[in-house]
Amino acid sequence: MPVGTAGTVKAIPQDILENLGAQIILGNTYHLYLRPGHELVRKLGGLHRFMSWERALLTDSGGFQVFSLSELRKVKEEGVSFRSHLDGTSHLFTPERSMEIQIALGADIVMAFDECTEHPAERERARASMEMTLRWAKRSKDYFEAHKHEVPWNSISTLSAENAERMGHPTAYPAAPALFGIVQGGMYPDLRRESAERTVELDFPGYAIGGLSVGESRAKTMEMIAAVLEILPKDKPRYVMGVGYPEEIVQYAAMGVDMMDCVLPTRAARHGLLFTSEGRINIKNARYAQDQGPADPKCGCRVCVRYTRAYLRHLFVSAEPLAGVLNTVHNLAYYLDTMRSVRHAITLGDLSGMLSGSVSLT
Ligand SMILES: [Zn+2]
Repeated sequence: MPVGTAGTVKAIPQDILENLGAQIILGNTYHLYLRPGHELVRKLGGLHRFMSWERALLTDSGGFQVFSLSELRKVKEEGVSFRSHLDGTSHLFTPERSMEIQIALGADIVMAFDECTEHPAERERARASMEMTLRWAKRSKDYFEAHKHEVPWNSISTLSAENAERMGHPTAYPAAPALFGIVQGGMYPDLRRESAERTVELDFPGYAIGGLSVGESRAKTMEMIAAVLEILPKDKPRYVMGVGYPEEIVQYAAMGVDMMDCVLPTRAARHGLLFTSEGRINIKNARYAQDQGPADPKCGCRVCVRYTRAYLRHLFVSAEPLAGVLNTVHNLAYYLDTMRSVRHAITLGDLSGMLSGSVSLT
């Protein structure tokens, strides 16, 4: 899932996302709550209509950004109080509040409010955090079940409905979203398994593995994912949050992971880092100044078909806005093509050929 932090996958218009084959994108609750505000988005018919995105949307719980971006946060049983990184104003996120915001945004998949355990964390701290996440999961579910029908299009204004019709949008989406639970437990496999078992007992239509990619080794990430996948039901979506490099997402998919999101393809693109079938390249490097080849000779995206590495380098070193756009289009194409190849290999019953790394992808 490409990450669309503030109602936009940075630098990319929605029609290009559609052309690239993105089926679902992620929106960040924390950012949309602070700006433009979930009540405004609700009033405008929900995030789908606000950003003109007809395909699926997943919102995170807001917890991760509170932990990574906000100042002066205080975690209590009730929830997390924090100051906005934008203007310093005080706010409180609780499981109930997170559900209310995500339902107001009109996400198709809503994430339970969890505490992302910091890394490294002592065992007792990781356990206490995991227990809190389980209590918050129960509160998230209780509130969600009572309020899930309060999606924006169930209370839509006539004007908004008329506008939707004019723009060719449906006037309604599914009657209620789905709520996914999140497994925590730090870097302790037994705590991870216990968290998975007890989250499954709460019975969600899908499950996420959170609190990874926080500075641990890749081997540790894989160990935690493997421990949890033993427990999570195979017939429900299993989502690893915040990963990873192209070769990692292939490995995780081979392990049985169904969904992943990552800012890497978009963020790296804005820093001039391109993922290609020949490995990662830094387009600002002087060696590309006269390179007339495409960013990736094996890529058929609109950027690789049309532009040279020399031109992409020129745009980047000149700080032209188009640099970020073109680099992001290619990186997203590379990631989405990677997952398309994974799905194809799964259909054929053989993922092993893809597991030697991204270089082998065609
Ligand atoms: Zn390309």
